[in-house]
Amino acid sequence: MKTNREAGGMQPIAFNLTKPGYIARKGEIDDAIREVLETSWFVLGKNGEAFEHEFATYLGMSHVLGCNSGYDALVLALRALGIGAGHEVLTVSHTAVATAVAISATGATPVFCDIDPVTFNIDPDKLEARRTPRTRAIVPVHLYGQAADMGAIMAFARAHKLKVVEDCAQAHGARWQGQVVGTFGDIAAFSFYPTKNLGAYGDGGAVATNDDGLANQVSMLRNYGWQPGRRYISEIRGVNSRLDEIQAAILRVKLRHLDAGNDARRRLASTYERHLSGLPGLVLPSQSPGNHHVFHLYVVRLEARDDIAIGLRESGIGTHVHYPQPIHRQRAYLDHGYGDGSLPETERACQEVLSLPMYPELPEADVARAARILRTLIDGRPNP
Ligand SMILES: *Cc1c(COP(=O)(O)O)cnc(C)c1O
Repeated sequence: MKTNREAGGMQPIAFNLTKPGYIARKGEIDDAIREVLETSWFVLGKNGEAFEHEFATYLGMSHVLGCNSGYDALVLALRALGIGAGHEVLTVSHTAVATAVAISATGATPVFCDIDPVTFNIDPDKLEARRTPRTRAIVPVHLYGQAADMGAIMAFARAHKLKVVEDCAQAHGARWQGQVVGTFGDIAAFSFYPTKNLGAYGDGGAVATNDDGLANQVSMLRNYGWQPGRRYISEIRGVNSRLDEIQAAILRVKLRHLDAGNDARRRLASTYERHLSGLPGLVLPSQSPGNHHVFHLYVVRLEARDDIAIGLRESGIGTHVHYPQPIHRQRAYLDHGYGDGSLPETERACQEVLSLPMYPELPEADVARAARILRTLIDGRPNP
């Protein structure tokens, strides 16, 4: 591997920036925030309702309920389905830790299945070996912006009467066989963490479902167990997890630009692909036909990942590893009983994945330059 001196005097390229998105829509966003301040209604008001309606329309679903975070959305969805102590939930160890923490928070146990090495998503062929009489649900994660294999997952769920909660935190607007994610399972969880494809300017999340009963449960759970319109009387033991009006007003603006942002991410991914294809030892993200990837992250696989990441950092290129330690290896989950080699593809992915700079306003020229530097680090030859 050659030492890279190409970056001398060049501007660094950030892994992700949220400010350019704000600057691009400053007028609309400032107006939306000012309107909330002037109305001075801050929680569960008309912006929240309008956002829920608009996001439900975007998804083509009957109900969206805002809440405080993607983590809360998962907990509320699982609790609405009656998942709790004594139950097991099939999911992955190669995900944001929030997925597992949410399952644990209900009292249930996350059971980790290995991933498909091409998509990094749950491998449907690994579900059966982990199923027990206590299994109640599956939480497939649409990781990095790409849908999991929902056909096989739903078939397995139906065959064994399991509930499905889709973790859509990284995949707003992604589609599988033309159908938008979040619409396959019983209920779906979205995060609006600022860096997500649909991001607020603080914490936020939502649950989406076509089931009136589940929607009613979530609407009570998120607000102390009160029935809508009946304050101060708790029907069930709920929590406080609501989407505030300022975040909802911001999200209404951002939702109008979601598809354009996803298209920009897909164009940048094509630019990476043009510049990086055919390099030995480098695997680019898969884009199978029918799987509309929205590139929350642009994740490549590299055998010499750690050395290359250092080389990129020295050249001013920001990268991250999503995720450096699988959940079953983290201290909080060591007692869940996954020995060496029990999740081989998960462990290999953690050693090899590298996320390159990706956000909708990232200049094409920066992608080309980051790719050129990566190419040089791998084989010492710049782009033709
Ligand atoms: C971000 C994320 C979450 C949690 O969302 P928060 O809003 O940060 O609580 C859950 N699952 C996945 C896959 C995520 O990427």
